[in-house]
Amino acid sequence: MQSPLLKRAIVIGGSIAGLLSAKVLSDYFEEVVIVERDVVARHPTERTGVPQSPQPHILLTHGYRLLKGFVPSLKDDLLAAGAVPIDWGQDFQSFVFGDWSAVSNEPTGLESFSCTRPLLEAVIRQHVEQLSNVRRLSPYRVEALVGSGSKVTGIRCKRSKGETDEQTVEADLVVDASGRSSNALTWLEAIGASVPACELVNAQLGYATQRYRIPDRWDEDWKVLLVTHRPPKLTKLGYLARVENNELIATLGGYCQQYPPLEQSEFLAFAQQLPSARFHEVISHLSPISEIKAYRATANRLYRYERLVTMPNGFIAIGDSVCALCPAYGQGLTTSAMSALTLRDWLLANAKKSQVGDSLTFQKQLAKQIKPAWSAATNNDAGFLRAEAIAKKSPIARLLGLYRRRLVAKIHTDSELALALTKVAHMVDSPLTLLHPKLLSKAFM
Ligand SMILES: Cc1cc2nc3c(=O)[nH]c(=O)nc-3n(C[C@H](O)[C@H](O)[C@H](O)COP(=O)(O)OP(=O)(O)OC[C@H]3O[C@@H](n4cnc5c(N)ncnc54)[C@H](O)[C@@H]3O)c2cc1C
Repeated sequence: MQSPLLKRAIVIGGSIAGLLSAKVLSDYFEEVVIVERDVVARHPTERTGVPQSPQPHILLTHGYRLLKGFVPSLKDDLLAAGAVPIDWGQDFQSFVFGDWSAVSNEPTGLESFSCTRPLLEAVIRQHVEQLSNVRRLSPYRVEALVGSGSKVTGIRCKRSKGETDEQTVEADLVVDASGRSSNALTWLEAIGASVPACELVNAQLGYATQRYRIPDRWDEDWKVLLVTHRPPKLTKLGYLARVENNELIATLGGYCQQYPPLEQSEFLAFAQQLPSARFHEVISHLSPISEIKAYRATANRLYRYERLVTMPNGFIAIGDSVCALCPAYGQGLTTSAMSALTLRDWLLANAKKSQVGDSLTFQKQLAKQIKPAWSAATNNDAGFLRAEAIAKKSPIARLLGLYRRRLVAKIHTDSELALALTKVAHMVDSPLTLLHPKLLSKAFM
């Protein structure tokens, strides 16, 4: 721990971005208060404040590696809780361009875990909330910022259940980590601050998810299986993942408002419409152990804080509250971890001055970090939006898109190529690595 800079930091929202931020802040503040609107159980549970919690959450390898830096016991804790270790080069099978991609016969080091979202969150929470200077105020909902257009000095919150108790909590720094449904723009407007512009790329994807019991005799050689979508015509996707407690998460997705149904026989019928029959074959032999749960608020939504001319100091925004990505690319957990690292760098840069830094500088640094993830998700989803979106793509983006397609078309027989693309998807390697001469020659062979 550094010598604490300032007295108190408040984090709005005790989910992934909030917990990781609290961990970082605990090194610089005497006290960190996480204000969370939900009642939070000790054990992993789905909760209303995180409506996406029943849905599948891929933990990309880059995200897993970063999370281990925040929670050193992460691997042991996940193993102890029954999470399924996965090598994405060996244990992941994806159906793309009409066939299954080649898998590696040997360990590839592209590791992480497959588990439910509530389990991952619970493991991170256990680690962060045991820090002596971190406390949680819950169930309390933040209703307003306190301060002016030039400086935020705290928050006002109200007890979520019963709505009787109201509190004002002062702070040197308020971090908004309240997710996709953040009210920060309303709060900023109310204190006379400027609000950021919003960018939206909405390909209208809907998920429907059901959990199944895995039988004792299970001969499948994969841990995660994906039947992918492909703009503009293939609007449906299917995702199966082994998770803790010998369960399988089965998710159907439909772009362009072709939402998967919530009734059992219709769910199975939708699965039969996927380009591969395998998803349907697997689930039709298993017993469901949950109802089918839908989620449809999946637009890529970016608040451009970094483009503001002024922003009140003492307030920053992080995680999905700034950049909420379409879930089909599994990047949100990883970008949350990257954002927390940006927070660490920003705090460190100002540590010697014993003051919280300029908020706009933080948002600019954050924008740089999340740009590749935003571009990857929106460039792909834009393919479902036809002419209007194609016009937005730069010629270079279009050329790279075509090149990438040539590579993907060859991954059915080339496990080395499949691994190179998976590494990019897992944010371990830069997309520029795909321009390596060896891959260029494979593409045009
Ligand atoms: C359907 C779906 C599937 C996804 N799948 C993946 C995936 O496969 N891989 C991946 O990496 N990411 C995935 N994501 C993204 C991932 O869920 C988020 O990026 C991640 O949870 C980080 O979000 P966050 O912590 O910023 O916000 P959230 O996780 O949304 O949490 C916000 C928190 O703020 C609290 N809160 C909200 N308002 C207030 C208030 N006023 N006062 C107090 N507390 C408040 C909420 O209760 C909640 O705890 C998916 C998202 C969706 C929607």
